[in-house]
Amino acid sequence: MRIKIVAGNWKMNGTRAEAESLLRELLPLIEENKTVETVVCPPFTLLDKVEELIAGSAVSLGGQDVFWKDKGAYTGQISAKMLLDLGAKYVLVGHSERRGRFGVPEPDFNEDILAHFGDNDTVVNRKTKAAIAAGLIPIICVGETLAERKSGDTDSVIIGQVSIALRDLTGEQVAALVFAYEPVWAIGTGEVCASNEADRVCGVIRETAGRLFGESVAEAVRVQYGGSVKPDNAVELLSKPNIDGALVGGASLKAADFAAIINAL
Ligand code: 13P
Repeated sequence: MRIKIVAGNWKMNGTRAEAESLLRELLPLIEENKTVETVVCPPFTLLDKVEELIAGSAVSLGGQDVFWKDKGAYTGQISAKMLLDLGAKYVLVGHSERRGRFGVPEPDFNEDILAHFGDNDTVVNRKTKAAIAAGLIPIICVGETLAERKSGDTDSVIIGQVSIALRDLTGEQVAALVFAYEPVWAIGTGEVCASNEADRVCGVIRETAGRLFGESVAEAVRVQYGGSVKPDNAVELLSKPNIDGALVGGASLKAADFAAIINAL
């Protein structure tokens, strides 16, 4: 049996005071829930504070990104070892807001393009390996854009992203990690992927892991769905056989909503 896992990706939100009030409200609401693993991924600036606030609870800490080098002259980057030092257990890798375009010059620069930081599949693979080597559990995000879906390329995009992310890993390492299927068009848009389709694509991720590493790995690897998950659609999505949890953005910033999603399981 795969243990369900719900992670809150706070993205670039929160001051120390806001983190404190969110978690003080959230923790009592999910205290009784012993069946779902809960993770919060605050911005780097709040990791230390959040670690303090969740101490003694069943909630785990996650980073939102990681660099693949251990240390050195990499201004602005954070290593897996640093995340571990702050108490992180998980780290998001390859979120669509980090993949894709980088340095798009004016006048083409478009703030609405969700992908900003240039992470490609090779970078995602490096970050995944660095996270695992340090003892963190990566949550590898994959997902197609609207254009890719419209042109019928969803499955090939997903299979490509998954296969490259898993390069050089062992079956044992893959069995322990988490995938998040996040269709780019469903992130922050309120447009949730239909539950049968989300389940089908999560199944494609699982099958790909199985083709590369065997059936027992496919059975063990956990696959979340992410993209406009809210209390009112969580039960429908999370009751699907291939969906082992959720990666929640906006709704994870509201204690009552995030708790309702966790408790829906
Ligand atoms: P929303 O839940 O706000 O759509 O964000 C999803 C997401 O990107 C989580 O990583």
